[in-house]
Formats: sequence, structure tokens, C-alpha cells
Amino acid sequence: MRAAVYKGNRQFAIEDMPNPTPGPGQVVIDVSYCAICGTDVHHFMYDIAPPGTVMGHEYSGVVSAVGEGVSRWSVGDRVVGGGGEPPLGRAANPSRGERANYRLESASAPTSRVRAYAEKVLLEDWEPVPIPEGVSDEEAAMCEPCAVTVHAARLSQLKLGDSVVVLGAGPIGLLCMQVARAAGAGKVIVSEPAPARAEAARRLGADAVIDPLTEDAEARVVELTGGVGPDVVFECAAASGTLDQALNMVRRNGQVVLVAIVWEQTPLLPPDWMAREVSLKTSFGSQPEDWRIALDLIRSGRVTMEPLVSEASYLPLDEIQGAFEALCNPSSQVQMVVRHG
Ligand SMILES: [Zn+2]
Repeated sequence: MRAAVYKGNRQFAIEDMPNPTPGPGQVVIDVSYCAICGTDVHHFMYDIAPPGTVMGHEYSGVVSAVGEGVSRWSVGDRVVGGGGEPPLGRAANPSRGERANYRLESASAPTSRVRAYAEKVLLEDWEPVPIPEGVSDEEAAMCEPCAVTVHAARLSQLKLGDSVVVLGAGPIGLLCMQVARAAGAGKVIVSEPAPARAEAARRLGADAVIDPLTEDAEARVVELTGGVGPDVVFECAAASGTLDQALNMVRRNGQVVLVAIVWEQTPLLPPDWMAREVSLKTSFGSQPEDWRIALDLIRSGRVTMEPLVSEASYLPLDEIQGAFEALCNPSSQVQMVVRHG
């Protein structure tokens, strides 16, 4: 099989690797689509991924081989990779202990696990989740990022009718605004400088879209929320200063949920906002229940991928290098997706 192997120094190489064979209790997934995640782009941009890594964790595919003792899957079943309920007593992610540290974890990520920028992925039989009828393979590839936003919304204090601001309209921000709406948000305001992304937020029904490069985002948000600020801000931008901006715009006793992973020092000036007794909640990844909810939101049309992906979003594995370079500084791209085969 072919795989895009990260070689270090912002370079991928397309290499041939042996096809995986399922051991007892394992399955092989032939990957159909793998969406390029902002986290992978950061691992490339900041050269965090150890050389030899095959990334790609947002994917859909078809079961192509099952190991001994596997009864829950048959060859041909459509699945998303990941999100399954682990057997009792086993953690979905054993490395996430009490003192989990994503930076250290990323720098030492095992290179042995080949993920979905390869044509085939080997999983334990409990790891995949079936794709429901009515959800396409293309949509299902975005189940993982959707689950991340479901997780963030469920961790938040968002209540029916609350005003919400989403900072950043990349794939996570665009999914987050839809999930917040499904969770009962009233007014939804999005801040995004890239025109294609701002346009996608508008098409998804944002009540207002602010360009933080030409407008004073904090002042605009306060104005749009009757002079008090929004109840909840989801920080999905990871730009320098956006966390401070979120804390400064949220209302008194409001909540900022940090969804984006910020890899650089980010300025904070507490005297601007601490007197309002705001809270900050961090959200990380997702749990099996979030994947089930995400698939149901997609199936029922409450979350749509349509403004995020177009025919131009898809690329063959060979073009992954250029796609990552473009996504380090996205202008016209919203979401890019590797199409295998
Ligand atoms: Zn992701």
C-alpha cells in the first residue's frame, strides 16, 4: 500500500509499505477519504511529528479484512476510524493519564501506528464506528472533528438561547457553530479573516460574521450582544492573541471554551477581563458518545459539511505536500480531503 510518510522538516514522502494483516481481534480498513486536520497541519508546520509518522485521523473507509475471533464486522462494512467504545476496563486512549500533556505526547508519539494518510489502517475491532444509512463516506470522514466540537459544546455551560461567539471559521469553527446551534444557542457570531471561511460561516447561517483584521472584534461583539458580551465564546482560531480576545469579549461570569490547540506563546492581559469573573474551560479531543452524537447530527442534517467541502477540496495522496503547505496559510481553502484510490 502507499502512504504519505512524514520525514521531518516539513516534508512528506509517498512510500510503499507492506499491507497490514489483521491479528486476532483486529480489522483492516481500506481508507476512502481522510480529511486533513488542523492538528496535523500544526504537527507539520511546527515540525512536531516525529519522522516516520503516518498521520491522518479523520477518515472513513470500508472493512477489507477481519482477524480471528472478530464477529462484529464483515468485509464491506462502511466505518469511520476511531470513536468506538473500548471494552470494559480499557481506556480508549491509555496515554491520557491524570497529568496528560499533549505537547510531550505529540513529540514522542509512537511512529509504529500507521494512520489514514495510508491506503489501509489496522484497528482493534472495537475502534471503528459504523456509518449510518444516509451519511455519505465523504461526510463521515469529518465525523472526528465534528465529535471534537460536540465534546466542547457538551463541556460548556451553554444554555438554550445563549449568545455564542466562535473565533475562527476553519473546519472546527464551522462545525462548532452548527453544533452550538443544535445545542440551543440563540445568536451566533463568527470572527474570521479569511474570505472563503467567512463566506462559509455566512452560508451556514451565522447571525453576524466579523473580520478581525478590519474591525475591532471585541467592540463589535459587545455591540452585537446588547453591550454585555456573549454568554459563551468557543476559541477555535489558535491565532496569536485570540485567547485574550475571547476572555475580553465574554460577558461577566461568561465562559470561554478553548477548543483550538495554540502552539505558541499567546499574550494575555488579565486586568482587562479578570474583574468580570469569567471562566476558562479547556476541551480536548472527544469520547465515544461524542462520535455517536456527531453521526446523528450529520444524519439528521443539523450539521452539514456542504459549505466546508467542494469538488476542489479533494486531492490524491500524491498532492499532500502542496496541500499541507497551502494550509499553513489558508486563504481560499476551507477543508482539504485526501481521496484514496
Ligand atoms: Zn482532527
